[in-house]
Amino acid sequence: MTRYIFITGGVVSSLGKGLASAALGAVLQARGFKVRLRKLDPYLNVDPGTMNPYQHGEVYVTDDGAETDLDLGHYERFTGVAARQSDNVTSGRLYQRIIARERKGEYLGATVQVIPHVTDAIKGFVRADVEDRDFVLCEIGGTVGDIEGLPFVEAIRQLGNELGRDRALFVHLTLLPYIPSAGELKTKPTQHSVKELRGIGIQPDILLCRCDREIPANERSKIALFCNVRDEAVIPALDVDSIYEVPLRYHQAGLDRQILRAFGMSETPEPDLRVWEDIATRLTAPEGEVKIAVIGKYTGLKDAYKSLDEALVHGGIANRVDVDVEWIESETFARDGDLHHLEGVNGILVPGGFGERGIEGKIAAAGIARDRRIPYFGICLGMQMAVIETARNMAGLPGAGSSEFGECEDPVIGLMTEWEKDGRTEYRDETGDVGGTMRLGAYDCVISPTSKVFGIYGRERISERHRHRYEVNLAYENVLAKAGIVFPGKSPDGLLPEILEVPNHPWFIGVQFHPELKSKPFDPHPLFASFIKAAVAQSRLV
Ligand code: GLN
Repeated sequence: MTRYIFITGGVVSSLGKGLASAALGAVLQARGFKVRLRKLDPYLNVDPGTMNPYQHGEVYVTDDGAETDLDLGHYERFTGVAARQSDNVTSGRLYQRIIARERKGEYLGATVQVIPHVTDAIKGFVRADVEDRDFVLCEIGGTVGDIEGLPFVEAIRQLGNELGRDRALFVHLTLLPYIPSAGELKTKPTQHSVKELRGIGIQPDILLCRCDREIPANERSKIALFCNVRDEAVIPALDVDSIYEVPLRYHQAGLDRQILRAFGMSETPEPDLRVWEDIATRLTAPEGEVKIAVIGKYTGLKDAYKSLDEALVHGGIANRVDVDVEWIESETFARDGDLHHLEGVNGILVPGGFGERGIEGKIAAAGIARDRRIPYFGICLGMQMAVIETARNMAGLPGAGSSEFGECEDPVIGLMTEWEKDGRTEYRDETGDVGGTMRLGAYDCVISPTSKVFGIYGRERISERHRHRYEVNLAYENVLAKAGIVFPGKSPDGLLPEILEVPNHPWFIGVQFHPELKSKPFDPHPLFASFIKAAVAQSRLV
């Protein structure tokens, strides 16, 4: 029997609902339950694929090629359960389907309405594809009271009735602000938020209260009284140093116990949280530190590189070191032209990106890493920039570039128009919709056994997630080989270069895919673990 936990948020946005859901999933897993996490996004974009990272943070890509909300990254990092297309839906996608059906006459003349048609579509999404899961945790994006969120809250209210008390539970995440002048924690915003939720028919079972300090017992009782929940169901969610401590803290605060109690389930045995304890120890007592420069375009908003940021932390966990990330805006870097930004840096990472802005800074960074023998990790665009740099400066092709940025003399990076996947040919062309022409999702890659990356992965065939249009142009493979770059990882048909390495360098690797999407704190991605290891070695040299 699958039980459903619906997670809503109130008072303000950015309380970390995604993280709270992910951490709760991890604690339930530690009790031996099978979980799946999903996100309902009320906005009207069909998916976040075309949104500016400054608007929405990173686009998280699943194995099955869906461009999804970054919260799915948290879910996967905390539970190890690979996210899928069927774990994220937006109002835009639901309306798109409903309108397509309406045009085909599938509603048989009915007036198509928010209730029941949109709410039915939401309910259908929540309950589809859950297999043998014990719990489905379903997060509602936005804040209670948002106009666009109403159909979602209505749909989960209906589900509460349909599933019954023993199969549906409502968790509400709120904020208790501390007002310094009064010297008090304030419960009123939480009371209002719960009132709003009850006004639309949902009585939360558990309140998860974000707070920067301990919540005194009398304040908890007050919240319980005004919000119509039991005292023990008011769970403090205090600020922590590392997000990976959250599963431990939630358990200490009694969240999993209260959930099981609300469902009428046994609260024993206790969960096995040893992996999380080990991760917390490694994070709080590192044995060293390395400094990594990330030369990116959206460095003003860390959420734009969420998975990358986390994967670097995981690389640190693997090596028991603290990873100090210096976020460098690639445009500034190009303009300054000086190197002070890279003073004391033990590794340089150029992440993925789209468009021409800032690329000269990234190209320069790849050159500096090569010349100074600093470990270099190029991801997607970062790999392409390293190819352009080598072509221009080592292969005598000053006009080398990418056809993404317009015509150039030597398009060492170009658009591939067709490739094989699972025995089928897939196509794309320059004129396709921006929303749907990318190589997206998991693709296999075959690694040459004589390469460095083979040693890192320890396997010949790997699968990694992609999100890009352009590829290294293999017409230049020989020229690039003479200039010092080889491609030991390719698609199984040999047509698409997936991995580059510079054999004559301590650690210079570029990948066309996004390894950061699959890294987990309890299973750091081998490339990130190896990159940080190389940075540790580099730090011992200086
Ligand atoms: N803009 C490049 C491409 O489309 C790289 C994409 C990326 O880094 N994700 O191929």
